[in-house]
Amino acid sequence: MHRAPFADHGGARAAGIDVVGLRERLRAWAHECGFSQIGIAGIDLAGAEPGLRAWLAAGFHGEMHYMARHGMKRARPAELVPATASVVTVRMDYLPRDAPPDWMARERSRLAGLADGEAVVSVYARGRDYHKVLRQRLQQLADRVAAEVGPFGHRVFTDSAPVLEVELATRAGLGWRGKHTLALSREAGSMFFLGELFVDLALPPDRPGAEPAAWSAGGHCGTCTACLDACPTGAIVAPGRLDARRCISYLTIELHGPIPLEWRTAIGNRVFGCDDCQLACPWNKYAQRSPLPDFDERHGLGAAKLLALWQWDEPEFLRRTEGSAIRRIGYVRWRRNLAVALGNALRAGGDGRIAHALSAAREDALPLVREHIEWALAQEALASQASRDAGSGSGP
Ligand code: SF4
Ligand code: SF4
Repeated sequence: MHRAPFADHGGARAAGIDVVGLRERLRAWAHECGFSQIGIAGIDLAGAEPGLRAWLAAGFHGEMHYMARHGMKRARPAELVPATASVVTVRMDYLPRDAPPDWMARERSRLAGLADGEAVVSVYARGRDYHKVLRQRLQQLADRVAAEVGPFGHRVFTDSAPVLEVELATRAGLGWRGKHTLALSREAGSMFFLGELFVDLALPPDRPGAEPAAWSAGGHCGTCTACLDACPTGAIVAPGRLDARRCISYLTIELHGPIPLEWRTAIGNRVFGCDDCQLACPWNKYAQRSPLPDFDERHGLGAAKLLALWQWDEPEFLRRTEGSAIRRIGYVRWRRNLAVALGNALRAGGDGRIAHALSAAREDALPLVREHIEWALAQEALASQASRDAGSGSGP
């Protein structure tokens, strides 16, 4: 995050600036900075407040207390960053440059490869940490504006908790809020990152991507419910309403403690994040490849095996995840997630070496990981019992 002092500039400014021309030049500069699309919204997000209140009141944010910490400031950009007059939202596509045309089918097939020991890392996390990429490029964009209008108040956000980024994106014309709660675009599906530049310049806003009444109802989703049907944990409890406590992205990335028993089986072989709702979405046939090398896969993470990842000791984890978003969860939670996936592979009848690898790591594991290893080892016995029960049930 980068901050320039708003107070020095005395509030929203537009006098003497050709804001319409500036908005058009901003689009050209944004493309030069690697963004695929930008849009501008005003700062009145009052319509989003009831939904945000209800979501927090239901406790759907789980342990993400930072979501609640800023209260309604999240829906009030000018309270979060005083003197903000407009918000520029940028879209950065993240499919790797060499993603094959059938990338969605390949991803689904890897999810089905649990017994073969496939490990699935969410597509967005296989390359460079997007926080760094977006932050640097948003700052470049701000520098271009400053070169034209002189010093101006601004602040950069990338996937930052205090910002209602999907709301801002839809108001800025980048798309609509899909029933899976992510921003969705007719031209790019949902495989993109969003970033925001809060500015103290009163720029003319773009037209919203869907009428306000349609924002919470899924915009151009129509009668489709594919993402709700595909979610392994039923985390999308209603169109546009996510109980993060059940979401595999939350469970494998945000949650610090043990993964609740009730969701471990559904996690399957997902070891960092989950793309299922996006893989089910028909709009993602329009997902765009990134123009940047930053999101190319590193260390074969698009074809990794659970046992190979389990062999990483902590120095190797740190080496292989340098500059990656995966490093943010740390080695212990990485092992916790792998243990769950290995247990699921055992239950699915996977490689006989899995039980040996888990048992060998049990003794020296920290308590959090050890408990997950013990759960994983128990899955084999449960699978054998189930198979015996099935066998005795089918006898004469
Ligand atoms: S990321 Fe996965 S678990 Fe979360 S809502 Fe989407 S499909 Fe469900
Ligand atoms: S899967 Fe269907 S309902 Fe879900 S976000 Fe995509 S279009 Fe909308």
